[in-house]
Amino acid sequence: MQKVTGHAVHLPADRECRGAGIATGRRSRRQGMAGSLNPQRKIRMKLIEQSWEWAQKPDRPLECIESAGRTCYKSEDKITQGSAERFARMLVKSGHESVIEHAVAGVRFITNRGVTHEIVRHRLAAYSQESTRYVNYGNQEMTFIRPVWWEQSTEEQKALFIKACESAEDQYNQLLASGWQPQQAREVLPNSLKTEIVVTANLREWRHIFRLRTSKAAHPQIRVLMQSCRDGFQRQIPILFDDMQD
Ligand SMILES: Cc1cc2nc3c(=O)[nH]c(=O)nc-3n(C[C@H](O)[C@H](O)[C@H](O)COP(=O)(O)OP(=O)(O)OC[C@H]3O[C@@H](n4cnc5c(N)ncnc54)[C@H](O)[C@@H]3O)c2cc1C
Repeated sequence: MQKVTGHAVHLPADRECRGAGIATGRRSRRQGMAGSLNPQRKIRMKLIEQSWEWAQKPDRPLECIESAGRTCYKSEDKITQGSAERFARMLVKSGHESVIEHAVAGVRFITNRGVTHEIVRHRLAAYSQESTRYVNYGNQEMTFIRPVWWEQSTEEQKALFIKACESAEDQYNQLLASGWQPQQAREVLPNSLKTEIVVTANLREWRHIFRLRTSKAAHPQIRVLMQSCRDGFQRQIPILFDDMQD
């Protein structure tokens, strides 16, 4: 899993999100972090960094693309060791991107609900997302995503943010206690709530997503996440992604 902070990307050894979090409340006060404003709070929220990992690594994408693409020219006899790389590079350079659609990849993002609201606007992908209707956050610590501009924020801004998250958690739990179901109490949950989403798309669509969501015009939270994800695609399949820069 690739944890994504403001500008740096960490490659942790394990998949455990909890370790990356800032648990608030009495414990964090002892640790000197921005924490709960109410030391009597029994329930403690967690603040973690957004991250991503492969849900479905591309399986021999260049060979798959070459095999499909050479059908156009009936040039299968030209398939040799290393020809797939040259063929895929030619496709990208010439803009013949429909052939790239034959290869797919899946990514699991752990991020906030504001970011996933933007991700799901991309129509040429399959999505499965953690449901705030069916997951009961009253049974667990509520988890929020640390904004990527956290380190540049003042202590007052950090305290205000944590207060807002704690307040949402408290109101949610009170609504559950009053008889509302999770799908009703979720109305008070904020954009910063942690969520998981698995996104499966073909590699042409991933190129499109990275182009839009790593541009300077993109929201900083999704931009940092997608820059890290794009770098992962570049490491995995440089031929198809190494032309993509910030
Ligand atoms: C910086 C930024 C700011 C944004 N601000 C806003 C905003 O303020 N409000 C808002 O509502 N949205 C906003 N969006 C979302 C944006 O409008 C798009 O919905 C989103 O980026 C998906 O882009 P897309 O349609 O190109 O891509 P996808 O849905 O991923 O589609 C990929 C490509 O397939 C083709 N395609 C897909 N479906 C069709 C179709 N039905 N007909 C024809 N061609 C199709 C198009 O070529 C498209 O570019 C913003 C996006 C960005 C990047």
